[in-house]
Amino acid sequence: MEQGTEDVPVIYLHEIKRQYMQGDEPLTILSGAKLALWAGQSVALVAPSGSGKSTLLHIAGLLETPDEGEVYVGGAPTSQLSDVERTQIRRTEIGFVYQSHRLLPEFSALENVMLPQMIRGLKKSETVKRATEILTYLGLGERLKHRPAELSGGEQQRVAIARAVANAPRVLLADEPTGNLDPHTSDHVFQALMQLVKATHVAMLIATHNMELAGRMDRRVSIVEGQIVELD
Ligand code: ADP
Ligand code: MG
Repeated sequence: MEQGTEDVPVIYLHEIKRQYMQGDEPLTILSGAKLALWAGQSVALVAPSGSGKSTLLHIAGLLETPDEGEVYVGGAPTSQLSDVERTQIRRTEIGFVYQSHRLLPEFSALENVMLPQMIRGLKKSETVKRATEILTYLGLGERLKHRPAELSGGEQQRVAIARAVANAPRVLLADEPTGNLDPHTSDHVFQALMQLVKATHVAMLIATHNMELAGRMDRRVSIVEGQIVELD
Protein backbone atom coordinates (compact mmCIF):
# COMPACT_ATOMS: atom_id res chain seq x y z
CA MET A 1 0.00 0.00 0.00
CA GLU A 2 1.30 3.47 -0.86
CA GLN A 3 2.68 5.36 2.07
CA GLY A 4 0.35 7.99 3.45
CA THR A 5 -2.62 7.66 1.13
CA GLU A 6 -4.64 5.64 3.65
CA ASP A 7 -4.22 8.20 6.45
CA VAL A 8 -6.11 10.92 4.60
CA PRO A 9 -9.80 10.72 3.69
CA VAL A 10 -10.46 10.45 -0.04
CA ILE A 11 -13.00 13.24 0.42
CA TYR A 12 -13.33 15.45 3.46
CA LEU A 13 -16.16 17.94 3.72
CA HIS A 14 -15.33 20.59 6.29
CA GLU A 15 -17.95 22.93 7.80
CA ILE A 16 -20.04 23.00 4.64
CA LYS A 17 -22.73 25.64 4.47
CA ARG A 18 -25.28 25.82 1.67
CA GLN A 19 -28.34 28.00 1.36
CA TYR A 20 -30.82 28.39 -1.46
CA MET A 21 -33.06 31.38 -1.90
CA GLN A 22 -36.73 30.50 -1.71
CA GLY A 23 -38.30 33.69 -2.97
CA ASP A 24 -36.79 36.34 -0.71
CA GLU A 25 -36.12 33.93 2.14
CA PRO A 26 -32.84 32.04 2.47
CA LEU A 27 -33.39 28.34 2.98
CA THR A 28 -30.51 26.75 4.90
CA ILE A 29 -29.85 23.20 3.70
CA LEU A 30 -26.40 22.53 5.13
CA SER A 31 -24.91 24.42 8.07
CA GLY A 32 -21.52 23.22 9.20
CA ALA A 33 -21.76 19.74 7.69
CA LYS A 34 -18.66 17.59 8.16
CA LEU A 35 -18.01 14.21 6.57
CA ALA A 36 -14.97 12.07 5.84
CA LEU A 37 -15.08 9.36 3.18
CA TRP A 38 -12.39 6.68 3.36
CA ALA A 39 -10.95 4.35 0.75
CA GLY A 40 -12.68 0.98 0.70
CA GLN A 41 -15.56 2.12 2.91
CA SER A 42 -19.22 2.25 1.88
CA VAL A 43 -21.37 4.90 3.53
CA ALA A 44 -25.16 5.15 3.33
CA LEU A 45 -26.68 8.63 3.43
CA VAL A 46 -30.19 8.12 4.73
CA ALA A 47 -32.38 11.19 5.20
CA PRO A 48 -35.88 12.33 4.25
CA SER A 49 -36.63 13.81 0.85
CA GLY A 50 -35.70 17.50 0.73
CA SER A 51 -33.14 17.28 3.52
CA GLY A 52 -30.15 17.96 1.26
CA LYS A 53 -28.80 14.56 0.17
CA SER A 54 -28.39 15.53 -3.48
CA THR A 55 -26.95 18.89 -2.48
CA LEU A 56 -24.34 17.17 -0.32
CA LEU A 57 -23.44 14.68 -3.07
CA HIS A 58 -23.11 17.46 -5.65
CA ILE A 59 -20.84 19.41 -3.32
CA ALA A 60 -18.73 16.31 -2.57
CA GLY A 61 -18.53 15.66 -6.32
CA LEU A 62 -17.40 19.23 -7.08
CA LEU A 63 -20.52 19.73 -9.18
CA GLU A 64 -21.72 22.50 -6.89
CA THR A 65 -19.77 24.95 -4.73
CA PRO A 66 -20.68 25.48 -1.07
CA ASP A 67 -21.32 29.00 0.25
CA GLU A 68 -18.84 28.33 3.04
CA GLY A 69 -16.55 25.48 4.01
CA GLU A 70 -14.00 23.42 2.15
CA VAL A 71 -14.00 20.21 0.14
CA TYR A 72 -10.70 18.36 0.40
CA VAL A 73 -9.92 15.71 -2.21
CA GLY A 74 -7.05 13.47 -1.15
CA GLY A 75 -6.19 16.07 1.50
CA ALA A 76 -5.99 18.98 -0.94
CA PRO A 77 -8.44 21.90 -0.69
CA THR A 78 -10.46 22.58 -3.84
CA SER A 79 -12.18 25.92 -3.22
CA GLN A 80 -9.49 28.00 -4.90
CA LEU A 81 -9.19 25.82 -7.98
CA SER A 82 -10.23 26.99 -11.45
CA ASP A 83 -13.16 25.37 -13.24
CA VAL A 84 -10.70 23.54 -15.48
CA GLU A 85 -8.86 22.11 -12.48
CA ARG A 86 -12.11 21.06 -10.79
CA THR A 87 -13.27 19.37 -13.99
CA GLN A 88 -9.97 17.54 -14.18
CA ILE A 89 -10.42 16.20 -10.62
CA ARG A 90 -14.01 15.20 -11.38
CA ARG A 91 -12.88 13.26 -14.45
CA THR A 92 -10.11 11.31 -12.78
CA GLU A 93 -11.03 11.03 -9.08
CA ILE A 94 -14.82 11.06 -8.87
CA GLY A 95 -17.52 8.79 -10.27
CA PHE A 96 -21.19 9.78 -10.10
CA VAL A 97 -24.29 7.61 -10.49
CA TYR A 98 -27.76 9.16 -10.67
CA GLN A 99 -31.22 7.77 -9.99
CA SER A 100 -31.89 7.61 -13.74
CA HIS A 101 -29.04 6.17 -15.77
CA ARG A 102 -28.40 9.23 -18.00
CA LEU A 103 -26.69 7.08 -20.61
CA LEU A 104 -26.37 8.45 -24.14
CA PRO A 105 -29.23 6.75 -26.03
CA GLU A 106 -27.56 6.62 -29.44
CA PHE A 107 -24.45 4.86 -28.14
CA SER A 108 -23.94 1.23 -27.12
CA ALA A 109 -23.20 0.13 -23.56
CA LEU A 110 -19.56 -0.31 -24.57
CA GLU A 111 -19.35 3.17 -26.12
CA ASN A 112 -21.00 4.78 -23.09
CA VAL A 113 -18.23 3.32 -20.91
CA MET A 114 -15.50 4.17 -23.42
CA LEU A 115 -16.43 7.85 -23.65
CA PRO A 116 -15.14 9.13 -20.27
CA GLN A 117 -11.84 7.41 -20.98
CA MET A 118 -11.58 8.92 -24.46
CA ILE A 119 -12.34 12.37 -23.04
CA ARG A 120 -9.45 11.78 -20.67
CA GLY A 121 -7.24 11.11 -23.67
CA LEU A 122 -6.73 7.34 -23.59
CA LYS A 123 -6.19 5.46 -26.84
CA LYS A 124 -9.34 3.95 -28.32
CA SER A 125 -7.98 0.40 -28.16
CA GLU A 126 -7.29 0.84 -24.44
CA THR A 127 -10.79 2.21 -23.81
CA VAL A 128 -12.37 -0.78 -25.62
CA LYS A 129 -10.33 -3.18 -23.52
CA ARG A 130 -11.10 -1.52 -20.21
CA ALA A 131 -14.80 -0.91 -20.98
CA THR A 132 -15.18 -4.57 -21.97
CA GLU A 133 -13.49 -5.68 -18.76
CA ILE A 134 -15.64 -3.54 -16.48
CA LEU A 135 -18.91 -4.42 -18.20
CA THR A 136 -18.02 -8.11 -18.13
CA TYR A 137 -17.10 -7.81 -14.46
CA LEU A 138 -20.56 -6.35 -13.81
CA GLY A 139 -22.23 -9.23 -15.65
CA LEU A 140 -22.87 -7.40 -18.92
CA GLY A 141 -20.40 -9.20 -21.18
CA GLU A 142 -23.27 -10.29 -23.42
CA ARG A 143 -24.72 -6.78 -23.65
CA LEU A 144 -21.77 -4.76 -24.98
CA LYS A 145 -23.40 -3.75 -28.27
CA HIS A 146 -26.84 -3.05 -26.81
CA ARG A 147 -28.11 0.51 -26.70
CA PRO A 148 -29.68 1.73 -23.44
CA ALA A 149 -33.24 1.25 -24.78
CA GLU A 150 -32.40 -2.43 -25.42
CA LEU A 151 -31.41 -3.01 -21.79
CA SER A 152 -33.49 -3.63 -18.67
CA GLY A 153 -33.57 -1.01 -15.90
CA GLY A 154 -31.07 -2.93 -13.80
CA GLU A 155 -28.75 -3.42 -16.77
CA GLN A 156 -28.93 0.28 -17.63
CA GLN A 157 -27.97 1.14 -14.07
CA ARG A 158 -25.06 -1.31 -14.12
CA VAL A 159 -23.79 0.32 -17.34
CA ALA A 160 -24.07 3.69 -15.59
CA ILE A 161 -21.99 2.27 -12.72
CA ALA A 162 -19.42 0.92 -15.20
CA ARG A 163 -19.24 4.37 -16.79
CA ALA A 164 -18.79 6.00 -13.37
CA VAL A 165 -15.78 3.80 -12.58
CA ALA A 166 -14.32 3.82 -16.11
CA ASN A 167 -11.51 6.17 -15.09
CA ALA A 168 -10.81 4.30 -11.83
CA PRO A 169 -12.03 7.09 -9.53
CA ARG A 170 -11.10 7.19 -5.85
CA VAL A 171 -14.68 7.99 -4.84
CA LEU A 172 -18.03 6.80 -6.14
CA LEU A 173 -21.04 8.98 -5.33
CA ALA A 174 -24.48 7.52 -6.02
CA ASP A 175 -27.71 9.49 -5.67
CA GLU A 176 -30.55 7.03 -4.98
CA PRO A 177 -29.12 4.66 -7.63
CA THR A 178 -31.73 1.97 -6.98
CA GLY A 179 -34.64 4.36 -6.44
CA ASN A 180 -36.32 3.48 -9.75
CA LEU A 181 -35.83 -0.29 -9.53
CA ASP A 182 -37.91 -3.17 -8.21
CA PRO A 183 -36.54 -4.88 -5.05
CA HIS A 184 -34.89 -7.79 -6.86
CA THR A 185 -33.16 -5.60 -9.47
CA SER A 186 -32.29 -3.08 -6.78
CA ASP A 187 -30.48 -5.78 -4.87
CA HIS A 188 -28.54 -6.82 -7.95
CA VAL A 189 -27.41 -3.24 -8.65
CA PHE A 190 -26.51 -2.72 -5.00
CA GLN A 191 -24.38 -5.88 -5.07
CA ALA A 192 -22.54 -4.50 -8.11
CA LEU A 193 -21.71 -1.34 -6.14
CA MET A 194 -20.53 -3.26 -3.08
CA GLN A 195 -18.49 -5.61 -5.27
CA LEU A 196 -16.65 -2.57 -6.71
CA VAL A 197 -15.84 -1.18 -3.25
CA LYS A 198 -14.25 -4.50 -2.29
CA ALA A 199 -12.42 -5.00 -5.59
CA THR A 200 -11.15 -1.46 -6.20
CA HIS A 201 -11.01 0.05 -2.71
CA VAL A 202 -13.01 3.02 -3.93
CA ALA A 203 -14.72 5.19 -1.28
CA MET A 204 -18.48 5.11 -1.75
CA LEU A 205 -21.33 7.35 -0.60
CA ILE A 206 -24.85 6.26 -1.53
CA ALA A 207 -27.96 8.30 -0.86
CA THR A 208 -30.79 5.85 -0.32
CA HIS A 209 -34.19 5.46 1.31
CA ASN A 210 -33.69 1.72 1.52
CA MET A 211 -32.92 0.87 5.15
CA GLU A 212 -32.25 -2.77 4.32
CA LEU A 213 -29.50 -1.81 1.85
CA ALA A 214 -28.16 0.86 4.22
CA GLY A 215 -27.87 -1.83 6.88
CA ARG A 216 -25.52 -3.82 4.67
CA MET A 217 -23.08 -0.92 4.24
CA ASP A 218 -20.07 -0.13 6.44
CA ARG A 219 -21.47 3.08 7.88
CA ARG A 220 -24.70 5.08 7.98
CA VAL A 221 -25.06 8.85 8.22
CA SER A 222 -27.97 11.26 8.06
CA ILE A 223 -28.58 15.00 7.72
CA VAL A 224 -30.17 16.62 10.76
CA GLU A 225 -30.65 20.38 10.87
CA GLY A 226 -27.99 20.88 8.23
CA GLN A 227 -25.38 18.73 9.94
CA ILE A 228 -24.14 15.22 9.24
CA VAL A 229 -24.83 12.81 12.07
CA GLU A 230 -23.60 9.24 12.34
CA LEU A 231 -26.38 6.68 12.81
CA ASP A 232 -26.02 3.61 15.02
P1 ADP B 1 -32.80 15.55 -1.20
O1 ADP B 1 -31.85 15.05 -2.24
O2 ADP B 1 -32.48 15.07 0.19
O3 ADP B 1 -34.22 15.26 -1.54
P2 ADP B 1 -31.99 18.16 -2.16
O4 ADP B 1 -30.56 18.33 -1.85
O5 ADP B 1 -32.34 17.86 -3.56
O6 ADP B 1 -32.65 17.14 -1.14
O7 ADP B 1 -32.76 19.52 -1.80
C1 ADP B 1 -32.79 20.05 -0.50
C2 ADP B 1 -33.68 21.26 -0.50
O8 ADP B 1 -33.09 22.30 -1.24
C3 ADP B 1 -35.04 21.02 -1.10
O9 ADP B 1 -36.00 21.69 -0.30
C4 ADP B 1 -34.95 21.62 -2.47
O10 ADP B 1 -36.18 22.11 -2.89
C5 ADP B 1 -33.96 22.76 -2.26
N1 ADP B 1 -33.16 23.00 -3.45
C6 ADP B 1 -32.33 22.12 -4.06
N2 ADP B 1 -31.71 22.66 -5.11
C7 ADP B 1 -32.17 23.94 -5.21
C8 ADP B 1 -31.92 25.04 -6.08
N3 ADP B 1 -31.05 24.93 -7.09
N4 ADP B 1 -32.58 26.20 -5.84
C9 ADP B 1 -33.43 26.32 -4.81
N5 ADP B 1 -33.71 25.34 -3.94
C10 ADP B 1 -33.10 24.15 -4.13
MG1 MG C 1 -32.15 14.00 -3.97
